Amino acid sequence: MIRSENLTRRFGGLLAVDGVSLTLERGRLHAVIGPNGAGKSTLINLLSGELPPTAGRILFDGQDIARWPAWKRGQAGIGRTFQHSNAMRDMSVLENTRLAVQARSGIGLFRSAQNPRLIQSALAALHRTGLTGAAKAEAGTLSHGQARLLEIAMALAGAPSVLLLDEPLAGLGPEETAPIVALLRDLARDHAVLLVEHDMDVVFAVAAIVTVMDEGRVLATGDPHAIRTSAAVRDAYLGQGA
Ligand code: ADP
Ligand code: MG
Repeated sequence: MIRSENLTRRFGGLLAVDGVSLTLERGRLHAVIGPNGAGKSTLINLLSGELPPTAGRILFDGQDIARWPAWKRGQAGIGRTFQHSNAMRDMSVLENTRLAVQARSGIGLFRSAQNPRLIQSALAALHRTGLTGAAKAEAGTLSHGQARLLEIAMALAGAPSVLLLDEPLAGLGPEETAPIVALLRDLARDHAVLLVEHDMDVVFAVAAIVTVMDEGRVLATGDPHAIRTSAAVRDAYLGQGA
């Protein structure tokens, strides 16, 4: 569905992402794990178009999109969340989601903010994330868990086929984690999902495939069992008490 080949991003002397090749497939949740600074967020920024790569290709629907700007990738069906909240705190949940749909749609298509299709699309994203009841609440008043759900709802705006989720569970307690884990499972049924996540219990519970990154490079890719039992991965990463 979307494939990176030898994807590389240099910041001065630092290779933040170093020759990463991976394939995301519809119906599969692909987790990317690795210590802080491994290059996980940079990888998402490269796939979403927030950053241009120094080298490498990104193949999506048979085209190399590595040089496309972020808005064009968004319109083509790549949705993402950010590690830190992106919502406007003094706007409602529905307004934030509607704006995200509008930003994602082609010029002219949803020119009017009152376009019923725009609202319908936003409501569908809220329904999918369980936020229908909070539609009128100001984003700034949401619980931490609801704020994370809103990030996902905004990523779902415009009905993407690929979802890139950067630590959607960060900082959540167990009660807030459970509904998002259930949502991740649900989303993986009809999207290609890349999930960056620190909690190994969550990763091993929801991922069909896991890539371990360290210092910009892919250390290993495999199913959760293979990753859990890999001596190389354990030595380099899991063994550090992460
Ligand atoms: P992770 O998400 O795995 O914690 P990042 O992708 O955020 O890691 O960062 C990878 C490396 O790239 C880190 O050493 C980080 O300091 C560096 N880095 C990330 N973004 C930038 C940037 N915009 N400019 C310079 N260095 C950056
Ligand atoms: Mg990060």
